[in-house]
Amino acid sequence: MSEPQQIKVVDAFDLDDELRSLLKPGEMVRDAQGRRKRLPRYFYEIPSHDAAMEIRLTQHFGLNEFILVDLKEAQRLQQFPRYIPCAVRLLAFFLQQFRAVAGGSVHIAVNGGYRSPAHKMSMNATAHMWGTAADTYRIGPNTILKTKELIEKYNDVVEELSDDVTVMPYGHDTGISVDDHVHLDLGYMTVIPREISEDRMEVPQESRPRFAFEERRRRERRAPQPATVGTEKIE
Ligand SMILES: [Zn+2]
Repeated sequence: MSEPQQIKVVDAFDLDDELRSLLKPGEMVRDAQGRRKRLPRYFYEIPSHDAAMEIRLTQHFGLNEFILVDLKEAQRLQQFPRYIPCAVRLLAFFLQQFRAVAGGSVHIAVNGGYRSPAHKMSMNATAHMWGTAADTYRIGPNTILKTKELIEKYNDVVEELSDDVTVMPYGHDTGISVDDHVHLDLGYMTVIPREISEDRMEVPQESRPRFAFEERRRRERRAPQPATVGTEKIE
């Protein structure tokens, strides 16, 4: 086993010009209703593909699942190190709750996790640009979310999780079609990690590494899951 990965928190104002122009930290974008929203500023820096595969945000959700994109994403943002808004941890938390209630694994679509403001599907503001929305197209091994009935069933499951979670109705006519997935949405939520000091405005300054996952908690997550009843093991 390799050493556990740490994940660095970056203030995107400290990144190079190209990355800042693609991630647009702190810039305003309009949603489909014309409301102005401020893009996130603090990101996790994912150093490598191996790190993306190894780092888990919850028991069942790895960081890699939130950064699956195709050529619609800016080329630079498909190269490591990659960046994802820190609020993705909240998204993973709610997806973990969704998984528990749905009773099966929750599969995130390509382009269905984080999409940068430079992504070709990012026309208006959507929570995907904040790392706080996920598109799910399959539950467990066999349940493909293609029918109105199934999408409405799992939309109901998602909406029961919390008043902070919304979905898009089947067949809605703004933005991207949701005729083939469930769009779980926490809204335009930003996270300022506790490692961050908000003592400056938009001026790059010293960028001392700040690590977000405490060693203790990482060890807890990595510990083998205890069997629950008798010899029956849970996944
Ligand atoms: Zn979506």
